[in-house]
Amino acid sequence: MATKAATTVYRPHHVITLNPDAPHAEAFAVRNGRICAIGELAEVLAAVPKSTPVEELDGVVLPGLIDAHMHLQRGGLKALDYLGPDDDVEAFIIAMHDSFDDDGPAHPPFGDRIRAIERVQPLLHALGFTGVIDPAVTPDELRGYRAAHARGLLTMRTLAMPYLEIGVPGIPDVDAVIARLDGVGVATGFGDEMLRLGPIKVYADGEALAGQALLEEPWDDAGYRGLQRIDTTEYERLVTWCASHGWGVGAHAVGGAAVALVVAAAERAGADVRGLRFQAIHAYLEPSAEAMRRAAATGVVASLQPSIIWHNGAGLRRALGERAETANPVRSWLDAGACVAFGSDGPYFAFDPRHLMWQAATRRIEGEERPLDASEAISIDEALAAYTTGAAYAALAEHERGALRPGYRADWALWSADPTTVPIDEVRSLIVLRTDVGGRTVHRKENP
Ligand SMILES: [Zn+2]
Repeated sequence: MATKAATTVYRPHHVITLNPDAPHAEAFAVRNGRICAIGELAEVLAAVPKSTPVEELDGVVLPGLIDAHMHLQRGGLKALDYLGPDDDVEAFIIAMHDSFDDDGPAHPPFGDRIRAIERVQPLLHALGFTGVIDPAVTPDELRGYRAAHARGLLTMRTLAMPYLEIGVPGIPDVDAVIARLDGVGVATGFGDEMLRLGPIKVYADGEALAGQALLEEPWDDAGYRGLQRIDTTEYERLVTWCASHGWGVGAHAVGGAAVALVVAAAERAGADVRGLRFQAIHAYLEPSAEAMRRAAATGVVASLQPSIIWHNGAGLRRALGERAETANPVRSWLDAGACVAFGSDGPYFAFDPRHLMWQAATRRIEGEERPLDASEAISIDEALAAYTTGAAYAALAEHERGALRPGYRADWALWSADPTTVPIDEVRSLIVLRTDVGGRTVHRKENP
């Protein structure tokens, strides 16, 4: 990616750094795609050559957001299907909401994969995103990302989580997964600053609204507890092999019993789990306090999506009554000491981070006046951290992304106002005016 060789100083109204040691700044300087100075304007000017231009920015700068669970390439394929060439992100949001049940094309021509990535990236940059974790990448999708990257078209930093679906031809069982993962010698972390391999994706249970989340308390009087999609012993064998061969594991685990299974397997797999950024994905239906505490102690990231409970909340109330009130217990996950990474499961579920931060703070759900129980609400500051420092940690990038600090990548977005200080209901109408990735501007919008 081309970056400016010269230094530029940026002076917005305010900078929210997400650096706990210095959370606010007046200005920052960028050189070679990285932050080279940040702090009070005088400090920044003292750190750069005298002739360095100062660019005034009419808004508040935040670190670029990272969606820790975004099917970006599939979102792009759907964008090709549903959007005209001039449609913007607001049209994209509506089109994806209205086509929720359409997974998009299963076997698109290869060229469409590259066009899809090109189409969707600017839409997501317009929401302040500079990175994603794509949580289930098939070999064809990974070829698509590699081709886009090789052609210099990738502007969204992408952590790709390989998905080898057990049960498809050629992958009958865990041994087949291990054989493929072991075949070439790459593992989690391989790649560069634009495209990197993440943990593999595995399914421990099913979907909540289908009654497939694996719960500790039964769903019904008949004692049905949900769907376990992989045998416990086989899952432990896979996880232990992965941890000792450099692969992280991100497990779809919606219900509390699935979360407990995933955490227990991670504990047995040993100390490498933390560095490999194992994830409990979704983890929103009755995870026990014990499982959350042990996940935090083991280094299992809680990859949570406020969008899913926004969408599923009313249905879960019908299925589980009062038990639905504490669904998506973000407060409890944070209080347990876990790293919480926010994402969306877009493009299927709502992916607008303004909406999702608002949901996490208000606990509102689609179609109902009454929010879910407020005991699991978090602040906008905490939601922003989950989209930046938390998601960067999940993306193996906390040493250079998720915050604005000297030496970090110049991944930032200019917002029309500070989401952490505006009234809560204004968060959803803020505008992202500009987004930079590695010092290169990938989105611009006039402030109306
Ligand atoms: Zn997903």
